[in-house]
Order: sequence, then C-alpha cells, then structure tokens
Amino acid sequence: MAHQRGVPGAHPSTAVLTRGFDPRLSVGSARPAVFRSSTYVFATPEAAERAFNLVSGRAQAEPGEVPDLIYSRFNHPNAEILEDQIIPLEEGSDWAIVFNSGMAAIMTSLMAVLRPGDAFVYTVPLYGGTQNLIHELLEPLGIRCRAVVAGHSAELDEAIRTTPDLKVVLIETPANPTMVMTDIKRAALTASHLDPKPVVMVDNTFLGPTFQHPMILGADMVIYSATKYLGGFSDLLAGVALGLDGELNKKIRARRGLFGNILQPDECWILDGRLPTVSLRMNRQSKNAQRIAESLVHRAEVRKVYYPTLFDDPEQIRVRLSQCDYPGAMIALDLHGGKPAAFEFLRHLKLAHNAVSLGGMETLVCHPGSTTHSGCSLEERQIAGITDGLVRISVGVEDWRDLLRDFDHALAMTAKVIEAGITGKTDAK
Ligand SMILES: *Cc1c(COP(=O)(O)O)cnc(C)c1O
Repeated sequence: MAHQRGVPGAHPSTAVLTRGFDPRLSVGSARPAVFRSSTYVFATPEAAERAFNLVSGRAQAEPGEVPDLIYSRFNHPNAEILEDQIIPLEEGSDWAIVFNSGMAAIMTSLMAVLRPGDAFVYTVPLYGGTQNLIHELLEPLGIRCRAVVAGHSAELDEAIRTTPDLKVVLIETPANPTMVMTDIKRAALTASHLDPKPVVMVDNTFLGPTFQHPMILGADMVIYSATKYLGGFSDLLAGVALGLDGELNKKIRARRGLFGNILQPDECWILDGRLPTVSLRMNRQSKNAQRIAESLVHRAEVRKVYYPTLFDDPEQIRVRLSQCDYPGAMIALDLHGGKPAAFEFLRHLKLAHNAVSLGGMETLVCHPGSTTHSGCSLEERQIAGITDGLVRISVGVEDWRDLLRDFDHALAMTAKVIEAGITGKTDAK
C-alpha cells in the first residue's frame, strides 16, 4: 500500500493530519476505510513469492519498492496508516509498531532483544504488569534482571556500567504513582559508552507524546500504553513501540508476526482518529491538574501532594525542568488517616470515578495500595512511597473548578474520619 508521506518539515500537529493516508486508496473517502480482511490477494504467483521473501527477511526491498500485504497477523492497511501517522508525534523516531495492548508492546520489544544469559536493568517502581512480566517470564528464562530505584541517577549509571552482557535498560519516568523522575539523558549517555550498546527503552505513557520526548534525549526506543492518553477515551486497549534503529524495527516486527499481537483494524482506525487531539487533551488535562494540585496543597487533610510543580528536591526539580515541557495530569495525595481516610475520600467523590487506569477524558481516582500496587511487597511499597493513605488521581477535561469542589468536599468528609480517632492505626502496619 503506497502512502502519502505528507509535507516535509511539517510540525507534529500538521503531520499527524496529513501523512500516512492516501484517500485514493479508500475510494476518495476523507477518513480511511476499515480493512477487515484477514488475507490479501496477490497479482501473480511471483508477487506472492516476493512478498514472502520480503516478510521473512530472505530478500531486502529495493528502494521505492512497497511490499505487498500478505496476511493480517503480519500487517494490514489500518496498522500501516496508524503507524505512519503516529511517528511525527514522537520526535526523533523513524518507525512505529502497533500492538493490541501496552503490555504486548513491552513484552514483544523485550523478547525481541533479550536471550537467556543476557542482563536487563530497569527502574522501580514499574507498572505492575511489567513488574510481573519480569518476575514471571524473564527471570525464569534465565535473564538476569537488576532493579534501580527511580531517580537514583548515580546508581543507574553504576548498574549500566557494571552489569555484564547488558542488553536492555528500561526506564519508566515519571514513576507511578509518586511521579519520581529518572534522568533519561544521563542514562542514555552512560549507555552510549558501552560496546555493544544496550537498547535504552523508555515507557513514556505518563507524559508522552506531548510533554516528554525521550528519543531527543538519547533513548533508542519509546513504548506506550496507547490505552491511556493516546486513546484518551477509556474505550480501547492498544500499545505502540517507536524507535530509530532499522534492525530493532525488523526484530520487533518479526516477533509481533510470530506472537500475533498486532492491533486489529477497527482499533487502529479508532486510535488514528484520536491522534490529532492528543496534545489538545493533554494540555487541558495538565492545566486542570496543575490548578487542582496547587490548590490541594493547602488542605489540612493532605499530608503531601505529589505533583511535578510541587517537587521540593533540587535534583528532581532539575530533571523535571530538563526533560518535561509541562507537568502532566497525574496527581497523588497522601492523606492523614491512612486507609480509612483514603477509602472515605473515594466513597464521597461525586464527579470523579473510582477506577484504575488513566489518561481518559473523565477524571479517575484509585487507591494504589489496595489495587494497582497491591501485588508489591511492603518493602517495594515503602521504596515507591505508597502509603495506606495514598490516592492517585488521573485528571480529565472537566471544568477544573467542579473537580476541585468535588475533591474539597470529599476531603472534608475524610476530616471526620481523622477526627474520629482512627488516625494512624492502619498506617503502622
Ligand atoms: C497501563 C500501562 C501499561 C500497560 O498497558 P496496557 O495497555 O494496559 O497493556 C504499561 N505501562 C504503563 C506506565 C501503564 O500505565
């Protein structure tokens, strides 16, 4: 399928609307058709043979040659259109590969590079699913996995320099849920001195693609749960891997064809329609969140507000200013009164929903200790700053004044729990 590549040099918000889709290939339709076929018809037996030689890597495409489509587990038009349109949103990337979930993107990318005996360094806390993938799949396969606490740059440098046979460094920044930031540029620079160089991957789900650009900072690859801000409406699961190195592209694509976890045509079509509004939504969500976070700081029921503009550690402030354009829309509140206060807060929300996940148009609030991070050991939770009184907020696009009123009201209700003397009992466990 031949693609219109848009206007050279266009900015991301223009490129996302003008490349990747040729209306002539969808009978002139202004929006792409959805191609739900599982298989594609060849013009000649020779064309079929050539397509298989190309997809298997036995032959290389000639300059300007567009490989024929074969079978939708390998590739299909809606995946191609989506992949072409998403590239300009991740500055510095040259390829994109779409998956049927964020976990599929992470698993497939790691399995494309790591072999038994190889080493893997990652920051903690990580998304719970990624953490389970490491303990339940990578470690039993004989891959040596080494964790470094998020934000500890010197330790991360040391781990990168001294871990033999290091193949992948996975950084998730900001860390979930307390927003601790890891210096991407510094880790990428340290990795760049190694030969062979490990692949530096960044899970950019929390601030990308609008506010943080890891490829520009030297990362080799960026991974998304597109279920979150890219999808933006809490109505689909998807994942994306983006990068620059052509060999890595081929390896991950080949694994995707093998595992069968390409994103389906309907989901590709929905997601590519969401791309032009990602930065509009994220900017609104970030502005809302900043106003709310900076107001909640003054509430007596709140022990601490975790939000990037409220960092007090000078090194964290430096990292934020050096790698994030805006603070984003995730807030964590540590409430006085432990779990009873946190649960009381959730019970009294009228606008915000009590749900996990993030990045949707609607505001979602959860209690990480009993949900997203319930699989962590007490020690892991302490390292991650996840107390019993912690609640996590994903701010949506509602009017921020209504949200603030909702939070103020729910906090006032927790004050009653705190006053009733339950304070601290569950915190001590
Ligand atoms: C949600 C999430 C994932 C997993 O994505 P799915 O689409 O749910 O598979 C990975 N990393 C981060 C940071 C996430 O928030």
